[in-house]
Amino acid sequence: MRELRLRATISPMAVSTTPSVRALVKNVVFQRLPGCLRRGPTTTKRVALTFDDGPDDYTERYLDVLDDLGVPATFFLIGEYATARPELVREYLRRGHQVANHGYDHTRFTKLGRRALLDQLAKTEDALGGQLSGRPWVRPPHGSVDATSLVSLLASGYTIALWSVDACDYDDHDTASIVERCSPPNVDSGDVLLLHEGQQWTLDALPRIVTALHASGYECVTMHDLFAE
Ligand SMILES: [Zn+2]
Repeated sequence: MRELRLRATISPMAVSTTPSVRALVKNVVFQRLPGCLRRGPTTTKRVALTFDDGPDDYTERYLDVLDDLGVPATFFLIGEYATARPELVREYLRRGHQVANHGYDHTRFTKLGRRALLDQLAKTEDALGGQLSGRPWVRPPHGSVDATSLVSLLASGYTIALWSVDACDYDDHDTASIVERCSPPNVDSGDVLLLHEGQQWTLDALPRIVTALHASGYECVTMHDLFAE
């Protein structure tokens, strides 16, 4: 049901430089492992907007833009930021968005021992007030997982949420380029778009991305709803 794309990778770092053989092998191996969601069903014209690394001072502006556009999204929150801004955590939920775990302090899960990883997950869940969508969702910082962290996440019941379209808005601050990457024909049914909070250039791109998606007949849904079929 789910199409696995070879061009999607576990680690953005692996594609930002010439990929080593080891990185290529790792990406191919993890591409085939179950439990990592990248792209939803391709049978309906639905896509998911996802935003990492909040909450922060920009969050309310992102939420206002999404309200104006009438689209829900999925926010992968950093636990220590969520702990500091509980009012914003409540605000995502009040406005109908999905919130999910992005680790407590954005350390790569591959750098954490099992106990430290579980501690990061638990503290972040506390800050989120629990996830409403049944199985908890997590996006590993930088999309980095290895066999050890993958097993820990799956054993803890997590749905591991990666992405199929990378806006590259962490190092490309050009709004037009971000819009182009996140609009048809570069986006297709079932795609999960990776964007980031806290950035004016992403905020500026957002209405143009959603307008382009709507003009081509795509509906934006939360990642949970995209995979709920
Ligand atoms: Zn992140």
